[in-house]
Amino acid sequence: LIQLYMPLNFLGIVYREIRTALTDIERMFTLLGEHREIADRPDARDLPSGPLEVRFENVQFHYDAKRPILHGVSFTVPAGHKVAVVGHSGAGKSTLSRLLFRFYDVTGGAVRVNGLDIRDFRQESLRSAIGIVPQDTVLFNDTLLYNLRYGRPEASREEIVAAARTAQLHEFIESLPDKYETRVGERGLKLSGGEKQRVAIARALLKQPRILIFDEATSALDSKTEQAIGESLRAAARGHTTLVIAHRLSTVMDADEILVLDGGRVVERGSHGQLLAAGGAYAQLWALQQNEEGRQPDGSFVAA
Ligand code: ADP
Ligand code: MG
Repeated sequence: LIQLYMPLNFLGIVYREIRTALTDIERMFTLLGEHREIADRPDARDLPSGPLEVRFENVQFHYDAKRPILHGVSFTVPAGHKVAVVGHSGAGKSTLSRLLFRFYDVTGGAVRVNGLDIRDFRQESLRSAIGIVPQDTVLFNDTLLYNLRYGRPEASREEIVAAARTAQLHEFIESLPDKYETRVGERGLKLSGGEKQRVAIARALLKQPRILIFDEATSALDSKTEQAIGESLRAAARGHTTLVIAHRLSTVMDADEILVLDGGRVVERGSHGQLLAAGGAYAQLWALQQNEEGRQPDGSFVAA
C-alpha cells in the first residue's frame, strides 16, 4: 500500500505546486489591474467613516451565463460582527468574497455597505477598507519584513511587529536566526501552510481594514497549526466586521451567524448551537468532523 501511495502522494504535491503557481500568476494579473473592466460611476463616492455593515441582498451571480453560481443569497454582517459561510467545495463561498471586493459585479440583487450599493462607491475607497486573507498566499522572494510590509508599504516596523504579534507569528519569527530579515520564498526559508496563512493575516491587519474577509485555506494543516490560526483569526477579527469562509467548523463556532451554502443557496442559518440543535446539514458536517475517520486528509469536509 505504501508503495502505491507514495507516487500518488508525490503527484499530488506536483499538482499542488503547479496549481499554486497558476494561482500566483492569476493574482499578479489581478494586482496589475486585470479587473479594470469594472469602472467607477462618474458620481461614485467614498465610503463613510466609522464602522461598516455589510449586506448581501438576494444576490445572484454567474461567471458564465450558462452556469448560474449564486441563486439569491441574503445575509447581513452587522458592524463589528462575524458571519461565517461553510459548505462543500464549489458551493460559491469564495465567490461571495470576490463580489464584496468587487472583482466582479452581481448579476442580480445587490451588495450593500451601510445600506448603499457598493457600485455607488469608488472602488479604491471600498477596497482600501477591506482586508482579505486569501486561500492562497503569495510570498515574494524577499525577507519576512518585506513580505509583511506588502500589506501597507508605509507601515512602520513597530506596526509590522504589532500585526505579527496579533497573527501569532512574532514568536516564530523571533526564533529564526535572521528574525524579520529571514529570506523566504523559492530561494529562502519554505514556510508551512499555516505560517503562510499567518503572514497573510498580519498583512491584512496592517491595512487596518474595517471589513475583514478570511478565506480559509484547504491545504493540510496539523491540528496544532489549525488551533494557532483559529486563535490568530479570533484576535484579528475582534472589532472588525468579519466574513469568514471556512472548511473547518472549529473556525466558525463563535460566529454570530453561520450560513450553510449549498449549490449557491443558503440552505441553513443560525448560531452554532442553533444549527446543532436543528440536526440538519450543519449538524451532520459537525458529526463528520468530530469523527476522525470521517475527516478528509486535510481535515476539511470537502466532498468533491
Ligand atoms: P467555493 O469557494 O465554495 O469552493 P467558488 O466560489 O470558488 O466555490 O466557486 C463556485 C463555482 O464557481 C465553482 O463551480 C467554480 O468552478 C466556479 N468558478 C469559480 N471561479 C470561476 C471563474 N473565474 N470562472 C468560471 N467559473 C468559476
Ligand atoms: Mg473557495
